[in-house]
Amino acid sequence: MKVTRLTTYRLAPRWMFLKIDTDEGVSGWGEPVIEGRARSVEAAVHELSDCLVGQDPSRINDLWQTMYRSGFYRGGPILMSAIAGIDQALWDIKGKVLGVPVYQLLGGLVRDRMRMYSWVGGDRPAEVVAGIRKLQEAGFDTFKLNGCEKMGLVDSSRTVDAAVKVVAEIRETFGHSIEFGLDFHGRVAAPMAAVLIKELEPFRPLFIEEPVLAEQAEHYPRLAARTSIPLAAGERMFSRFDFKRVFAAGGISIAQPDLSHAGGITECHKIASMAEAYDIGLAPHCPLGPLALAASLHVDFVSRNAVLQEQSMGIHYNEGAELLDYVLNKDDFAFHDGHMLPPTKPGLGVIVNEELVIERSKSAPDWRNPVWRHEDGAIAEW
Ligand SMILES: [Mg+2]
Repeated sequence: MKVTRLTTYRLAPRWMFLKIDTDEGVSGWGEPVIEGRARSVEAAVHELSDCLVGQDPSRINDLWQTMYRSGFYRGGPILMSAIAGIDQALWDIKGKVLGVPVYQLLGGLVRDRMRMYSWVGGDRPAEVVAGIRKLQEAGFDTFKLNGCEKMGLVDSSRTVDAAVKVVAEIRETFGHSIEFGLDFHGRVAAPMAAVLIKELEPFRPLFIEEPVLAEQAEHYPRLAARTSIPLAAGERMFSRFDFKRVFAAGGISIAQPDLSHAGGITECHKIASMAEAYDIGLAPHCPLGPLALAASLHVDFVSRNAVLQEQSMGIHYNEGAELLDYVLNKDDFAFHDGHMLPPTKPGLGVIVNEELVIERSKSAPDWRNPVWRHEDGAIAEW
């Protein structure tokens, strides 16, 4: 079997699907994208097709290494997201050829169901409370919210109190009937991270995510030494080589590689194993589409240290399409009391509505993240 063609489809809300065709009629799908820079990843996918067209798609390990190592310069969000989506599509092909779900090829299930969590948008307490109630009705009991709004490098007690007020109100409203993680979203710099974590500690969040940017990872062990709240990070780390330094330095309790950003199933399975060796949990980042989610689930279902899986149903970014809009076998991705079951179909287990994908890709928006400014006009982290 040989790879014949790679076709990309940029799609609302901010996704890109990739279809890899072969000369034997089997095709695989993946989701190579970095939010806000879809066209850059698309160019990288097509550039990498040199390594793939005419090659045997079953040799995933060699193709991965060739895509990674055949360029003198490597790594980073664009190239690793391109490799990630290609890798997912290759695993999809392998599973379809052999007639089994991908997790069977990774050694088989280590659990029967996977705990999922939902994003709750909104910055005002009433909005967040209403959002949680709606998701509770759908069976969820685990959530993630923003830990704060815009935050200066050194900011006022008023700004800190505003962030604490939202969290306090949620804990007061729901008690311990729910759990929630707080995402600082890299918008907090090290001086304020220490302040904010201390103030939020009494409300016992499940974790604090990206307490500072991955670029400032040297602060993770320092912040961890000052709090009992588990710290989480990883959505802006793109390979084992990025994660190894963070794991070795300590401070992170939950690793959050993104299956569409960190080299795909091949690489994230290895990152999960590295995390296990450090007693670090796995909670793959996934605010993206169904193929990224399916890829995440296949790794979760073979990783004993997988603790939580993010998913994008109802996420505030999903303008123009919802998680399962492009999926024909929606029932396979139904929630069961806030959990998902192992996908049963061969490969990734997603039957893509190709006709709809082709149609919608003709008018895909170019999503961009908001650009925030501080009161003095300087650019702020979003
Ligand atoms: Mg995050």
